[in-house]
Amino acid sequence: MNVLVINCGSSSLKYQLINADSEEVLAKGLCERIGIDGGMHTYQPKGSDKIKTDIDMPSHTEAVQIVLDALTDPEKGVIKSLSEIDAVGHRIVHGGEKFSKSVVIDDDVLAAIEECNDLAPLHNPANLIGVNSCKKLMPNVPMVAVFDTAFHQTMPPKAFLYGIPYGYYKKYKVRRYGFHGTSHEYVANRTAQFLGKDIKDMKIIVCHLGNGASISAVKGGKCVDTSMGLTPLEGLIMGTRSGDIDPAILEFIAGKEDLSFKEMLTVLNKKSGVLGLSDGVSSDFRDLSEAAKSGNEQAATALETYAYHVAKYIGSYVAAMNGVDAITFTAGVGENNISAREEICSYLTYLGTELDPKKNEVRGEEAIISKDGSKVPLLVIPTDEEMSIAKQTVALVC
Ligand code: AMP
Repeated sequence: MNVLVINCGSSSLKYQLINADSEEVLAKGLCERIGIDGGMHTYQPKGSDKIKTDIDMPSHTEAVQIVLDALTDPEKGVIKSLSEIDAVGHRIVHGGEKFSKSVVIDDDVLAAIEECNDLAPLHNPANLIGVNSCKKLMPNVPMVAVFDTAFHQTMPPKAFLYGIPYGYYKKYKVRRYGFHGTSHEYVANRTAQFLGKDIKDMKIIVCHLGNGASISAVKGGKCVDTSMGLTPLEGLIMGTRSGDIDPAILEFIAGKEDLSFKEMLTVLNKKSGVLGLSDGVSSDFRDLSEAAKSGNEQAATALETYAYHVAKYIGSYVAAMNGVDAITFTAGVGENNISAREEICSYLTYLGTELDPKKNEVRGEEAIISKDGSKVPLLVIPTDEEMSIAKQTVALVC
């Protein structure tokens, strides 16, 4: 069964065509600068190099058409006709409290997603445009919505409520939602499988450390807490996002620098994190590690601060679950950055676990990286959000 997985942003569209039975990625690609001059389509069929084409895409509907044309192209395509696309899985960022699992998309679902637009004004409207464009061009193909927030809907009120007047939750649903849910769910399940254990008996901490980063506490297969909040700005220090700060800092800096609230949020979303902490060296951990190795002290401080915050969150989730049976690293930094894992794990010996420096020399593959006999295993499990979306889609439409 072939599933087209679509991840639509406001001016971009990422996609993969996946054979969900063989778990093969038949083709993948990216449409950039949709609705802006200088559009670009990058297409990569399995086993071939990337093909880049300059092509303007006035709207997402043209972008979807370009994707479908590429997939069915007689020379570079990977399928003969659109009838070989059995279903479409859409990544939807915010499902609010309405969606605790993936669903087949119908008119009621579309209306309910639209009601969540308020909670993710940058993402949900773009996701919906993607759905509507696909509906227009493939009206008879079943579509599924897979939500970033759904896995975290099992959090109890003590984890999702903020210490602010309760009326804001009642009136506006201001609460912790959490994101990267597809990744947290997939990685927690793989962790249990990899260890040969039943997830129902396990307490797992998943550290999704990418450009965006979040941690979750997963008890018995259900999320009981996670670090991102109403928006993906809360929690860990990230590539360019600040993560947790004293909210009064906003007014303080805005006053000193004569910035509006909106400008302050841009600072926190785009100019902070390790980019800001390193005084502009980079948001990319490879650059930061290189700079730190060459003696850049601010880059070293950024990495040290980052690791310290991750370790503090791990500690708080050990407390939240009153124990932990496995700690797993995933996403770009978690899967690949050996020194970041080393620094984070240096704080965890109190748990009776110790990183094995040799086993930690691993990138992008499933592995246990703690020493034999460690009380709590430390693992690397590469995340695969697209494959997970494809499988959830198949499960719902078959
Ligand atoms: P993501 O958002 O999951 O794609 O993660 C992006 C982050 O992963 C960037 O900061 C990269 O520097 C980091 N990353 C990706 N590959 C590597 C690698 N081979 N070594 C170190 N860091 C990496």
